[in-house]
Amino acid sequence: MSPSNAPRRAIFLDRDGTIIHDPGYLSDPKAVVLLPGVAEGLPALMRAGFDLIIVTNQSGIARGKYTVEAYETVAARLEELLAAEGIELAASYYCPYHPEGVVAPFNIEHEDRKPSSGMWHRAAADLGIELTASWSIGDGERDIVGGKRAGTRGIIVAGNRDKWPLPLLGPVDPDFVARDMREAVLYILRAEGVALPDGPGAPFPGAPFPGGPSPEPSSAEGPPA
Ligand SMILES: [Mg+2]
Repeated sequence: MSPSNAPRRAIFLDRDGTIIHDPGYLSDPKAVVLLPGVAEGLPALMRAGFDLIIVTNQSGIARGKYTVEAYETVAARLEELLAAEGIELAASYYCPYHPEGVVAPFNIEHEDRKPSSGMWHRAAADLGIELTASWSIGDGERDIVGGKRAGTRGIIVAGNRDKWPLPLLGPVDPDFVARDMREAVLYILRAEGVALPDGPGAPFPGAPFPGGPSPEPSSAEGPPA
């Protein structure tokens, strides 16, 4: 829809504890559950013109908790759940490395591992993303630090898991602390000058009616008399 040479903007999403429930070292596709606000919020970000990109640390691979194949099974289940909500990921990056891992070749430090920003820069190069026009959302300090180092703005989603010592009163603090994904999306839409829901709990503008597609704008296309 936009010209192919226009810079793309993205929302960089942490996965575990941000868009899905985080039981710790998730490897069972049956345990993939979307968190509140994700099914309604991410489509609103797509309609606002953002690419959705997952950037997730998966040290469980280096630690021998699960395999790359198991990770991919979980990732496929997540894509299935998102697709059912009309949500399409532009890309998904994961970091299997950890220096204290036990599984070669993943038992090393790596620039992709958050709070380093390697995955952001890979996405920018792969997809032509303008990082300074992009946002990062995560439930952990490292998600925000990685995103801020890459040049994005960052939002902590605080309601899911308490593991963030921020603020640090420095340049890598989050721009906003949201209680859930809905509030994070509202903050971004407001900052971007995009229309907001009519009130608390109201659907995001442009959202399909629950249980079906948007109605036709008029009766002009109704069946012939
Ligand atoms: Mg997380």
